Amino acid sequence: MDLTFSPPLHKQRHQFVVDFVKRNKPKKVVDLGCGECTLLKMLKFHHEIELLVGVDVNGAKVKKRMYVCMYVCSRKWHGLAPISTDYLEPSYDQLCVELYQGSVTQKDARFKGFDLVTSIELIEHLTPADVELFSEVVFGYMTPKMVIISTPNSEFNIFMPGVSCYRHSDHKFEWTRAEFRSWAMKVCLDYGYEVEFTGVGKAPQGQQEAVGFCTQIGVFYQLWGRDCCKTLLVNDAEDLFPYTLLYRVNYPSLCDNNILRRVLVSEVLYGAEKLKNRWMEEQADGICDAVALCQTEGGACAEEMKDLMEWSGASDSAEKQGSCTSCRIVAVPLDVLWSCCPKVSVLSGSLGNLKHLLMDEPNIKLSQDSSAVLINHWEQDQEEKEDDYNLDDSGYPEASLHSHSAEQEEDWEEND
Ligand code: SAM
Repeated sequence: MDLTFSPPLHKQRHQFVVDFVKRNKPKKVVDLGCGECTLLKMLKFHHEIELLVGVDVNGAKVKKRMYVCMYVCSRKWHGLAPISTDYLEPSYDQLCVELYQGSVTQKDARFKGFDLVTSIELIEHLTPADVELFSEVVFGYMTPKMVIISTPNSEFNIFMPGVSCYRHSDHKFEWTRAEFRSWAMKVCLDYGYEVEFTGVGKAPQGQQEAVGFCTQIGVFYQLWGRDCCKTLLVNDAEDLFPYTLLYRVNYPSLCDNNILRRVLVSEVLYGAEKLKNRWMEEQADGICDAVALCQTEGGACAEEMKDLMEWSGASDSAEKQGSCTSCRIVAVPLDVLWSCCPKVSVLSGSLGNLKHLLMDEPNIKLSQDSSAVLINHWEQDQEEKEDDYNLDDSGYPEASLHSHSAEQEEDWEEND
């Protein structure tokens, strides 16, 4: 009989958890007996999860994978550590990943209050006495809202050639469906949960009902009003932290104000440069004669120009550059930037916010009334200019050189 599962059984087990996570959207998830972190690596892509934790008694196994996670990044292999795009294009998601070495038979105060605890093919590696402790630790102490436990169904072993006793030499037992059910029902009664039974790895045709799934799964949900249950009321003073933290990483998130500012500043500088180039080109072609330019030779903005030249070191460089190059200062109005650069408007939320966020930013020079970003423009000889214009392809919508109307300005301020 061909007993090859497709997809392989371990993948079906992990996919079961992933599908459950998609439906139930837990924020805090811990995988007990995480082994090589395969499940965690799949779960890190689920945006709702904010804290993703793995625990295994075998620290060396976790560490080995952890280092691979940190140093190997390829399309095929997604590790647990952030990759360069997570830093270059952070999202608003917040994710912290932690890996611990510890035994599920011990209570650790950091593991209380999770939304979901998973224990995939772990319980059968515990002695009966440790199964008792496991039940107490998971259901009585950690008290998560949901628990997924998978374990081999020994009734299915008749279809597994070469399996005379257990499927793995380290298994301490393998339960029939009735044995699993009996343990699960007791846990529910003791700790205030209800359970649904299911599984993965279907039996050959016509045998499903008689034998069940190759891997049996119990999904536990915490009940409300649990006064009658054996929940362990442990006072904070008794809280212990016996697990060893091996690895922790916080993914860069736009919810972190420093990261938001960094990304916004780089988008502002990029957008301002693009707009400036476009305007200079239009001015050179005579398309537009109302460019919002401040020139180094006097005018209303002369003081700002001087400041900016000094701030950016442009005056020194201008002297060094020789006669064919001169520096001018271009004021790019913030309202134009806000409406022409989608990323800038999304990141700042409103024109008022944009001003506020850029106000004390050392890498940005604003005009005195904070209505424009001031940037240098180096005048080049004609030949160089042509080369530059050929390269210009900003992808931004046509930038109007005129500021937005007063009504628009009000709308932006309301959103502030
Ligand atoms: N859950 C993983 C998976 O689905 O790929 C790994 C399953 S592996 C069969 C069982 C794991 O449980 C091993 O990594 C083992 O080190 C871990 N384990 C065994 N006893 C443990 C205990 N008392 N506490 C924590 N982890 C334990």
